[in-house]
Amino acid sequence: ARGWQLVRRPVGVPRPEDFHLAEVDVPELPDGEVRVRNAFLSVDPYMRGRMNDARSYAPPYALGEVMTGGAVGRVVASRDDRLPEGTTVLHDRGWRDVAQGPARLFRPVVTPAGLRDSVHLGPLGMVGLTAWAGLVEVAGMRTGDVVFVSGAAGAVGSLAGQIARLRGAGKVIGSAGSDHKVDVLVERYGFDAAFNYHAAPVRDQLRQVAPDGIDVYFDNVGGDHLEAAIDAFREFGRAAVCGAVSSYNATEPPAAPRNLSAIIGKGVTLRGFLVVQHQSSAARAAAEIGGWLTDGRLVADETVVRGLPRAVEAFLDMLGGANTGKMLVAL
Ligand code: NDP
Repeated sequence: ARGWQLVRRPVGVPRPEDFHLAEVDVPELPDGEVRVRNAFLSVDPYMRGRMNDARSYAPPYALGEVMTGGAVGRVVASRDDRLPEGTTVLHDRGWRDVAQGPARLFRPVVTPAGLRDSVHLGPLGMVGLTAWAGLVEVAGMRTGDVVFVSGAAGAVGSLAGQIARLRGAGKVIGSAGSDHKVDVLVERYGFDAAFNYHAAPVRDQLRQVAPDGIDVYFDNVGGDHLEAAIDAFREFGRAAVCGAVSSYNATEPPAAPRNLSAIIGKGVTLRGFLVVQHQSSAARAAAEIGGWLTDGRLVADETVVRGLPRAVEAFLDMLGGANTGKMLVAL
């Protein structure tokens, strides 16, 4: 079997040489363990943080060990009655083709008819819960709210914007990194307005599409996007601070937001969250999102790269914005 190791801690933008695709032994299967052939691997922005040697909510990857991450696969050998051969499982031993370990590390999942097993790494998994909980529970979105989503063409952002629309937002605005993505936001995901953040300052473009301000900001990006949102907030505006992808490769602390004190007068709330803090809402979120997926009112796009040897490329391309929707590696 093979798996991707981190062999050098990246400084700034990671490079292919920071990783190594290693041959790994698959030991004989002990009692209580299962062997899983992975079908889909997830590559996610938070993994960039784990490549640093810094304390965070997820521990750093150890150098010279196969990395971990979300994956879906099928049990191909089992010595635990609860997970017979053929069971589809969701687990955290990604970045490799074969995962083996105690059965408790692998969660059996049922894929709704007509959907692919990869939905458990997207709308029906952590990504969907992040979008749903951020919008509903963290930002407390209400009917009629003007909602702004950054990173809007990505996995979380594309769902957050569509959930806002389906839950009765007054207006949904998105930002993304290319004109093509802007078209996708409006034409495919049903955003009311969108802009390319590379084209002009975020603050100016946001003001243009939301002249009366915004009520909710779903922040995937941080930096100048957060600064622009603080500027645009109406009284009692609320931000779900989900991620800060604009700074994950940075070697200096971000310069923005410089206008933090503006939240005082407007009574604005900026609230950070981790998806794991909302695990108790997972079933509710998946039921709501699953319903919209099957009746076609919500789309969950994937950008799929084929083959374990291209997993690092997929990860780097995702950080660079090559994906629309969820970036996945199919094995
Ligand atoms: P995405 O699918 O959104 O992929 C990352 C995207 O980030 C790229 O496609 C790119 O799109 C964008 N990007 C890269 N660099 C920049 C930049 N400098 N400025 C603005 N955008 C940039 O990833 P996810 O949907 O998985 O994650 C989105 C965010 O949510 C991340 O910040 C992530 O850390 C966070 N997250 C937080 C969780 C939590 O529990 N709080 C859980 C899951 C995710 P573009 O072409 O538009 O630049």
